[in-house]
Amino acid sequence: MATCIYPGCGGDLRKFDGAGYCVRCLEPVRVCGSCSGWNRGLAPHCRLCSQPLGSYPADCLALGQLDGWDRAKRHDVTINENLWATPRAYGGYLWFLTAGGQLCRYSPFQGRYSEQHTFGPGVGYSTLLIGEIAPAGSNGRPPRPEPFAITLNASNLIAFGMLSRTPIELPPPDGERFLADAVQEFQGMDSAGGAVWCLSANQSGSISLVKADIAERRREKWDLGLKAAAGPVLVDSYTLAWGRDEFAVFDGEHVRKQPFPSGFSAALSAGGAACPRTGLGRRPAVVHDQDVYLPGSFGGKPAFANICVRAGVMPIATLRLQDAAAYAQDSESRLIVAAEGRLDQYQQANPNTVWADPQLRPDRPPFSGAGLHAGFVQSAAGELLRFRLRRSFDTNLPPGKNILDSHGFCTAGPALLCTYTSSDGEAAITSWHA
Ligand SMILES: [Zn+2]
Ligand SMILES: [Zn+2]
Repeated sequence: MATCIYPGCGGDLRKFDGAGYCVRCLEPVRVCGSCSGWNRGLAPHCRLCSQPLGSYPADCLALGQLDGWDRAKRHDVTINENLWATPRAYGGYLWFLTAGGQLCRYSPFQGRYSEQHTFGPGVGYSTLLIGEIAPAGSNGRPPRPEPFAITLNASNLIAFGMLSRTPIELPPPDGERFLADAVQEFQGMDSAGGAVWCLSANQSGSISLVKADIAERRREKWDLGLKAAAGPVLVDSYTLAWGRDEFAVFDGEHVRKQPFPSGFSAALSAGGAACPRTGLGRRPAVVHDQDVYLPGSFGGKPAFANICVRAGVMPIATLRLQDAAAYAQDSESRLIVAAEGRLDQYQQANPNTVWADPQLRPDRPPFSGAGLHAGFVQSAAGELLRFRLRRSFDTNLPPGKNILDSHGFCTAGPALLCTYTSSDGEAAITSWHA
């Protein structure tokens, strides 16, 4: 039995495939891929062999191996504010940004959250990203990578080092403002390899793509030639932003534009009548390998444009849906779509029904991973959350409240988490763990 590696604890570890938690302090732990040693959830490097630990295992759900959901431990927590940005799992915790600008951390094993940093009013309306950045070391020391929480408002890109508690701010390029209100518009951020991508606009409303290097405190921009745009999203080695009728692709040197197939109209904001719905605050694009799916409509019905980015050629398929639908990504990042009575998983442009259930609602984002499906159903008892493993199991969520909208599901090691807004305007988290 391994012993807890958090200071002064000494509890036993409950271990699953790659991640787990301490049964005494209930903090998350994870295994090193090089030496199999156990480490704290947020550790960037192994404490035994110094190898980088990489991203925290998201898919060792372990819940998929439970015989029934009655054996999962459940926690329900109400947050006394709304959340506009979709929360993110990192290091065995769920991180969220409140509408009032508080960065908080929820532990699915403890079933409680704590405030980590105050970004302040005016922050909390754009995407929350978490990525490793290595700011230049002081006094000639080498840079040490650490996880940063990153968000945006019109006048700054804001990053907060979770271990060093260092805040870094980076203003937009001269004469520009960041497009940072992701509550209404599909405008947010994406990141890879320490670079953060977002959109900015000048005084005449012309939109540019911005690449920010937070560690070097440097940013560059490229004019997209669009006056209305959503994005950006990183797909393979490309960065995409899109207007209603065309999309722009940046390949690292040049921006070029390509029209959507005739009849397809891309959605630039949430709440379009005919557009497929996704989780509240979620960035709309789904990326799976070299495929990206952008929501929109075709002939008054929901549709996706499926662009495959291969060097030089970018074939586009229009995926036309028959009825209202809600979508998310499964644990292998494939597009999954909940339509009335079924859950479809997409391989490129081809759907495959993985769960047929006549009560499945088409207006809430679903979950699929580790052999487990979850979706909201309409039953005689009102709205319920239904899990499908080897059999179906229903639960109410949250107890005694009505759900207004859902941010969707995410996983953190052996935990599954659902975040939502209830009809009294407060966000809430329900989590389960093995
Ligand atoms: Zn412990
Ligand atoms: Zn190690």
